[in-house]
Amino acid sequence: MSETLDRLTDGEPPAEPEPAEIADPKAAAPDESDEPAELDPEVKARRDAALAHVRKFGDPVLNTKAREVERFDDALREEVQRLGMLMHDAMGIGLAATQIGLLNRVFVYRVQPDAPPSALVNPEVKWTSSEEETAEEGCLSLPLVHVDVERPAHVRVEARDEYGEPLLVEASGLEARVILHELDHLDGVLILSKTTREQRKEAMRLLREQQLQPSS
Ligand SMILES: [Zn+2]
Repeated sequence: MSETLDRLTDGEPPAEPEPAEIADPKAAAPDESDEPAELDPEVKARRDAALAHVRKFGDPVLNTKAREVERFDDALREEVQRLGMLMHDAMGIGLAATQIGLLNRVFVYRVQPDAPPSALVNPEVKWTSSEEETAEEGCLSLPLVHVDVERPAHVRVEARDEYGEPLLVEASGLEARVILHELDHLDGVLILSKTTREQRKEAMRLLREQQLQPSS
């Protein structure tokens, strides 16, 4: 993956919403993916439509802990499918149910651009490495914000798939980062609380500015 987000340095007006959830300058980007320099208008329209379904900073649902999923039924599978489509259209690499206002412990992610999205239901971290890495992350719920977050480099997670089958996921690098970022969403935690004071201040300023702007 690659380049990510941030091209905001070239003096372009920040009119375009940023992609989704994590970004990755060097290596990692949680829900946001790389933003191509120029988007095809159709792709951009689809992305904007998908982003309109993603709850943004200030929505209390983003600070709420999601509930365990108890029923592995069609409704759950539809939710997973919807999350996957929104993540795809929003050009994100991860999306948690809480980000679309559903308080279920479910998220989807996809680190390889062409791979089908993976869904983790009721994920539980079983082990994390003591080795940690710091990388820049973005978030579909925090437009334009990119902050450094330190996370374990390796993680082992147990979960279920959308049919209730047990899954064991061992991930490293960007994949571990995305999983931990999305898991935080299920606990009502945003990257703003995981970065430095200075970066949090700057992020809050950016978010406040956007809230002052009418529309979009
Ligand atoms: Zn996020």
